Amino acid sequence: MKKILIGTHNKGKFKEISFLISRKFRKINPINLKIPSPKETGKTFISNSKLKANFFSKYVDYPVISDDSGLCIKALNQKPGVYSARLAKKHGGFLKAMKYILKKMKSKKNRSATFVCSLSLKYPKKKTINVTGRLKGTISKKILGKNGFGYDPIFVPSNYKKTFGEMIKSRKIKIDHRYIAFKMLKKKIKTL
Ligand code: IMP
Repeated sequence: MKKILIGTHNKGKFKEISFLISRKFRKINPINLKIPSPKETGKTFISNSKLKANFFSKYVDYPVISDDSGLCIKALNQKPGVYSARLAKKHGGFLKAMKYILKKMKSKKNRSATFVCSLSLKYPKKKTINVTGRLKGTISKKILGKNGFGYDPIFVPSNYKKTFGEMIKSRKIKIDHRYIAFKMLKKKIKTL
């Protein structure tokens, strides 16, 4: 069976990306191979996802897919953006980071936000293929729902009334920024 390494240590992302990729691939988790995480030194989603794909591909001789994603909030100058994971770390977890965001948003009229996901796919000895998916929505007034991961409980996608945290996993997975990016990638690499 063909193998693909899903270059992330994030459980939520690993599950979502695994679900999207064809059953023909055996999905390998870098944690099981004791591969560490690279430092995210890029200033954009694409530069970080590329950096991750290049980093993880040094450890294996089969394809690697990696993502860099985050939540960009218009009224907060598109923050936390590429710093989404680091904001949670700084505040001691996602619950506290979400509370911090909701507090900052209290005085803001515009609650528009975008979830962004850059995906990079690298075959051995080849250049990376990169795509970026974006999903628009709004920041809810409360933390709602226990499903999903990360900032899911405060993001309501456009045309929906529930946060990602309130949606069943099978729905979120088919509309989110990762899904949009994956569809773009699949147009380029049909075997995925
Ligand atoms: P990074 O790509 O490893 O820098 O992490 C991105 C951050 O954004 C993580 O902390 C994620 O939890 C968060 N994030 C990315 N995608 C999603 C999502 O689909 N739902 C909720 N949070 C997300």
